[in-house]
Amino acid sequence: LPDPDVAALTDADLDVLLPRPGNESDKYRRGVLGVAAGGDLFTGAAVLAVGGALRGGAGMVRYAGRPAPVAQVRSHWPESVVTELDEPSITRVGRVQAWVLGPGLGTDDWAHELAAEVLASDVPVLVDADALTLVARDRSLLWRNAPVLITPHAGELARLLRADRDAIEAARLEHARRAAAELGVTVLLKGSTTVVAEDARPVRVNPTGTSWLATGGTGDVLAGLAGALLAQGLSCYDAASCGAYLHGVAGRLAAEGAPLAAGDVATALPRAIRAVTSAI
Ligand code: AMP
Ligand code: MG
Repeated sequence: LPDPDVAALTDADLDVLLPRPGNESDKYRRGVLGVAAGGDLFTGAAVLAVGGALRGGAGMVRYAGRPAPVAQVRSHWPESVVTELDEPSITRVGRVQAWVLGPGLGTDDWAHELAAEVLASDVPVLVDADALTLVARDRSLLWRNAPVLITPHAGELARLLRADRDAIEAARLEHARRAAAELGVTVLLKGSTTVVAEDARPVRVNPTGTSWLATGGTGDVLAGLAGALLAQGLSCYDAASCGAYLHGVAGRLAAEGAPLAAGDVATALPRAIRAVTSAI
């Protein structure tokens, strides 16, 4: 018998859940995403997250970061609105409907202060990568009223739960559920089988994907994509499960049985969306 506490999305669910523009749409109302990612060491994470968001359907992406990633984001994505930060503050960044926080951000005091500012906002925040390390050190960062979606792989979840990585790999659903309950957040646990857990909801097991996605930078693309879905008004639960689903379809389209680079997954996202939705 199927487990009533486990569910999987289908193309038909995506067709219903995915936001698409209409006559009344403008770029602001369609979803403005803030991206706080990248640092002097990892500039590419910022580029990939912004790319995932733009190709994932955000109405606008506002990127905020240090000079090195700012230069990269500016040259790769002239479509994004960029703010160069000389201090870890988002007060100069315009209004956004959601944030992506963490890919390549670093874990120094500057990153911690920026993470605290983003999490002090009143919009949903997707917490990934280095921001998960900051949260593992200081869980009080998560004490906020607006929703939080965390997107760890097994190693990042192990650090958050102070659990053993192998134990998590051996019981992924259970640990995703436990993290959701313990931290009061939505959990997208990445891996060969990605699962999405939220308190009082069935765990969604993602049916799409390819092992070629086990490639550096693909997680950053997923963060941007799921963030774009949050900014467009999807709940954390739906943004996480639709994001994982589309990311897996795009991975398959990009790979076609051969290697891919993470940027190819972002490039394939519009084709993935076309493949699972009916035309408007
Ligand atoms: P990250 O760990 O942040 O670099 O993200 C890696 C991405 O690749 C996530 O979306 C994972 O779900 C996906 N991924 C990693 N390993 C595999 C695998 N063996 N099979 C399918 N997808 C994978
Ligand atoms: Mg990652």
